[in-house]
Parts: sequence; structure tokens; C-alpha cells
Amino acid sequence: MPVEIAPSFLTADLTRLGEQIEQVLQAGAERIHVDVMDGRFVPNLTFGPLVVEAIKPLVEKSGALLETHLMIEEPESLIPEFTAAGADLVTVHVETCPHLNRTLQQIKDLGIKAGVALNPSTPLVSLEEVLGEVDLVLVMTVNPGFGGQTYLPTSTRKISRLHRMLDERELDYVAIEVDGGINLST
Ligand code: ZN
Repeated sequence: MPVEIAPSFLTADLTRLGEQIEQVLQAGAERIHVDVMDGRFVPNLTFGPLVVEAIKPLVEKSGALLETHLMIEEPESLIPEFTAAGADLVTVHVETCPHLNRTLQQIKDLGIKAGVALNPSTPLVSLEEVLGEVDLVLVMTVNPGFGGQTYLPTSTRKISRLHRMLDERELDYVAIEVDGGINLST
């Protein structure tokens, strides 16, 4: 599977958001990644559906994918809003979804792609039962909450184990996303 780069909003200069999004799209970004934080599941507050709606035309024009990474409690209540705002893919955290199958089905019923994310301390086995229902698995390579953290080196083994799990199940179409501390050397 080819490697794609998904620049995150968290690293943008928010006073020049539109301009910065156009810059990364022109530079070849295939996805724009919106980190949504609620101040409960993670210790920070960030963006809501209004921001997604505002940038949607820019992203759509370039043919890139607009993905929202929901680091929020009870994501079910906001999934319709983010979808209506223009998200092409919604990723929820396994730690926030007691009925993960139902939540993934909710996303798919809205006609968009579904992703599932894991915190560094959450084992891969927690998504064994839903791997056949997702388009993407996001491996957190820092503890979520803030941008600019250092990549956790133990993540590399987790990523390769996930790759093997997908391989064994012939789920090669499922994308593996890594999130946190990603730079030229990592
Ligand atoms: Zn993210």
C-alpha cells in the first residue's frame, strides 16, 4: 500500500488556516487530518464540525480526503454532525465505544468510511472482532491530547503486528494510520 501523508490541523497557524491548508494540498497532501478533542477523553479542546465545514470546499477542490479523528466521549452523538459538515472518514477510539460494532455501522450507514483508533496502552486484540468492518486502523504513537510530542518507540512493533493481523485475515485494503510524533526520521 502506498504511503500517504495526512497533515494535522494541530500543527497549523490557526490565524492563517485556509492559506496553510492550500499550501499542504499543493505540496501533495492526500488527506487533511482534523484532531477533534473534547477536554474529557483527552485533556484538551480543539475543533468542531463548523471548522470541518469551513475547510471542506478547499479539500474537496483538490481531491484530497477530509478525515476527522474523534478523541471524544460518546462520539455517536456527533458523528452525524461531522458527516454533514463534510467528513469523508470518521475515526473513533475503541476506548470510547462500548458498542463498537454499532458505532462503526452508524458511520457506514451515513455513506462514509469508518476508522478505529487505539491509544498506546490499548492492545490490538481489542479490535480483533471488528477488523472486517473498518477501512482504517489508527495507531496512536503518542498519548493523545497535544501536538508536538515524541514518537513512542514501542509503537513500531505494534504497527508491524497489526500489519500481520490484517495480512492473515486478507484485509489488505484496510489502511494503517500512525498518529503522533511523525517526522522525517520516524
Ligand atoms: Zn489524530
